[in-house]
Amino acid sequence: MNQTFSESIRRSLPAGLAGQDQPLPGASGASLTPAELAWELQTTLDPTAVLGRFSRVIQIAFPHDGFSYDLPGLRLHVSQGRVSRHSCTYNLSLKGEDLGELRLMRGRKFREQDLKQLETMLPGLVYPLRNALLYRQAVEASRTDPLTGVQNRTALEHLLTRELASFERGGEPVALLALDLDHFKHVNDTLGHSVGDRVLKAVTGCLVEATRASDMVFRSGGEEFVVLMRVASPADAVRAAERVRMALERCAAVQDAAPGHQVTASIGLAMARRRDSAVELFDRADKAMYAAKRSGRNRVETEASV
Ligand code: GH3
Ligand code: MG
Ligand code: MG
Repeated sequence: MNQTFSESIRRSLPAGLAGQDQPLPGASGASLTPAELAWELQTTLDPTAVLGRFSRVIQIAFPHDGFSYDLPGLRLHVSQGRVSRHSCTYNLSLKGEDLGELRLMRGRKFREQDLKQLETMLPGLVYPLRNALLYRQAVEASRTDPLTGVQNRTALEHLLTRELASFERGGEPVALLALDLDHFKHVNDTLGHSVGDRVLKAVTGCLVEATRASDMVFRSGGEEFVVLMRVASPADAVRAAERVRMALERCAAVQDAAPGHQVTASIGLAMARRRDSAVELFDRADKAMYAAKRSGRNRVETEASV
């Protein structure tokens, strides 16, 4: 069953909220008005927590086994509880703004009156959800490089700290590749800055292609990139670094973007050590990258101990 969170429900929402209205019909033991429901959900700005809390709070009035939620634009997928036979799906929106698709599931069929009940509660979800999504969007924007669309240095600092903490707890070895394009100033000087920008975008695409989905690619500065990866061993990291270097050298999209130039990169590789800080690991990879520059460019250098 597909339901759209209709125009009329959306329009009546502010009045319903302002009126501090009736308890939800049939919600005995959990008699929350939409305003109370919204209040209950406003305590967090994490979309996953908002949805999880909504699912729990409406459980008495609207029993269900699980839910899923999707908002592809924000790469958001949430799924909690059990997948069940019957489902009802709502396309949530507010003033024309897409707030994603919510699907509630249970073993028992949904009757018309169940859906009506749910529709009295959905208005309590949309505002807290919209606030959480706006917050998430702002955080995402602050961590995304606008030119290339990959994560930026702010995101790198955050994720590197997280990866190091996981490694510290006994997780897989963490490798960091610091990559700097060779003689990139020359590309800008001879072909212009906008061509340089196109090369940077093509390089990003190539790096994403040449790495695994679980690896993370960042633009850490002007013509500098970082690849963060979990590996089985340092030898695997060396192979991955060499694969990236070669992919770049041979990538048609990259080379075609800069006619008359051979676009290459110098790569420094460092492996995380116990009690490493993000800065220490990054600095070792950066040092190795400068060693690669000194020894002729378009090569991979590893820190001394790898
Ligand atoms: P090296 O091999 O020693 O790294 O030489 P290089 O020319 O790459 O290094 P240098 O640090 O001298 O120059 C980096 C260049 O990267 C200079 C700058 O104009 C360019 N650059 C930095 N950010 C951007 C950007 O966003 N767009 C473009 N088009 N160029 C950029
Ligand atoms: Mg540089
Ligand atoms: Mg450079």
